[in-house]
Amino acid sequence: MRELVVLSGKGGTGKTSVLGSLAVLAGRAVLADCDVDAADLHLLLHPVVLRSEPFFAGHEAMIRAEACTGCGACAPLCRAGAILAHNGSYAVEPLLCEGCGLCVRICPAAAIDFPSRRCGELYVSETRVGPMVHARLDPGGESSGKLVTLVRREARKLAVERGETWVLVDGPPGIGCPVIASLSEATGVLVVTEPTPSGRHDLERVLELCRHFGVPPSVCVNKWDLHPELTADIEELARAQGAQVVGRIPYDLTVTTAQVQGRPVVELKGPAADEITALWARLQAIGGASAIRA
Ligand code: SF4
Ligand code: SF4
Repeated sequence: MRELVVLSGKGGTGKTSVLGSLAVLAGRAVLADCDVDAADLHLLLHPVVLRSEPFFAGHEAMIRAEACTGCGACAPLCRAGAILAHNGSYAVEPLLCEGCGLCVRICPAAAIDFPSRRCGELYVSETRVGPMVHARLDPGGESSGKLVTLVRREARKLAVERGETWVLVDGPPGIGCPVIASLSEATGVLVVTEPTPSGRHDLERVLELCRHFGVPPSVCVNKWDLHPELTADIEELARAQGAQVVGRIPYDLTVTTAQVQGRPVVELKGPAADEITALWARLQAIGGASAIRA
């Protein structure tokens, strides 16, 4: 089983468009949308949900009105300002509660419950190119790193059960906790970047992260022809950091047409589709070498 994580550093570089196309080119794969804060792979692959389950992380305080004596001891101690007084009664604002549990400990009337917090929902679905595991965080839901770990675990389990070779992961943007959760123990990373100063800067940070976790990175520059000089500079940086440069995707209005139609761009003809097809061939060709560890 090979697990390729597609990352971008910054958002909006075309990561999901590339991942959706790789899924079509792979023919069969298990897909994992780990961009749980802003999942959008479903817009291209139209999954049919087979199973869903709530995702719980941390706790939230809830005052039982019938047990609360209105002593007011809890409100000033809550550093999140989550306990609100109204006409002598007290209630916790769930969007502000950080789940520290202090109020639960100090309440003299034991009037505060501390249940697990529901943060979102996990889905196991079927698409025309294979099963897909994805998720949605509730508004204000936290612990997206934990949810990413759950999505990946489900995807790997499915790959083993169904004997699939590839797990293709749409990773979150940035380099924070959700990215680390999507990256650790992956067999390869493809970084999709763009020829802009912020694209270059964020690529550098992602490559550093890959090096830290010992995951071999490949790089492709999307819309490379918008700034050929910066593209060359980015490719030089990538090679200097030990990454393999596996493709240059040109600016192509077909990509926009595909997005409007809700389809991966390789299902339409065009220069971007051609280059992504070549890129997939290169990724497979180096599958036994350094870029993707089997
Ligand atoms: S400390 Fe307990 S009893 Fe006092 S106001 Fe808060 S919830 Fe009510
Ligand atoms: S659990 Fe912590 S953050 Fe939440 S209401 Fe109690 S004291 Fe405030």
